Amino acid sequence: MTLTRRAAVTGASALAFSGHAARAADWDRNWDKSGAKDPFRWHGRLCQGGFIIGQGAPGEPVSFDGMQITQAGPTGLFFIGFDRDQGPAATVETSQGRQVFAVQPVAYAVQRIDGLPPEQVTPQNPALLARIQRESEMKAKAFASRIDSEDFASGFSPPLTKALRTSAFGPQRILNGVPKTPHYGVDLAAPTGTRITAPADGRVVLAETDLWFEGGLTLIDHGQGLVCAFLHQSRLDVREGDLVRRGQTLGAVGAKGRATGPHLCWRATWRGRHLDPSLLLKAGEV
Ligand SMILES: [Zn+2]
Repeated sequence: MTLTRRAAVTGASALAFSGHAARAADWDRNWDKSGAKDPFRWHGRLCQGGFIIGQGAPGEPVSFDGMQITQAGPTGLFFIGFDRDQGPAATVETSQGRQVFAVQPVAYAVQRIDGLPPEQVTPQNPALLARIQRESEMKAKAFASRIDSEDFASGFSPPLTKALRTSAFGPQRILNGVPKTPHYGVDLAAPTGTRITAPADGRVVLAETDLWFEGGLTLIDHGQGLVCAFLHQSRLDVREGDLVRRGQTLGAVGAKGRATGPHLCWRATWRGRHLDPSLLLKAGEV
């Protein structure tokens, strides 16, 4: 499936907005929205891999499924993400009250990929295992980033303007016949060298050119621990610590790491939960 003309136009027009003007407009997106009787204002995507953006009081603690998990940002906005395997209900509580959300289940496919080099699926070599361990610690540290910003609330644009979606979020993966963790990204095929742009404002919390599984990897915190990942890049144009704006070039598509061809694997996580990045966009954009 190629990106539709509508998608390209939507992405481009979204670039014209910034800051609070965009935030106000975002409440009118074609998303699930709060009702008159809800204790707090919110909008979002009520399904597995989805999320809500809510309105609380500035800096106040927010509970999710009984745990105080996050706190509202400077204008009171907060982000709550639903994991790929989130249960049928999600309870969110602020000082204004408690809201129970019905989270729609998603039927995930099973995906088999064969012909990957065995060392990329079932590594045995001790030196390689040590490298994988080191890289995993580096990533865990970056994923633990919790920037107190509300960048997630200004809307997301597709990171590639023209691409072929070769895998959706969520399928159970069987690599070379071995059951592995589900596919937590959206795969967008494009020629090596194609420009990747930041889908939203944020801070670069990891920029590594050559990781074993991910190849060139950039991680961006869009606020409150919503971290997007961009995998398999052939080139990186940003560094750790950089503040990026929506539409800014992050790097270029490649096939580095565990990849069968040039593509961007775009992922989104929030505090250990795996989200569907395409849900951050308006419907139909990717
Ligand atoms: Zn992928």
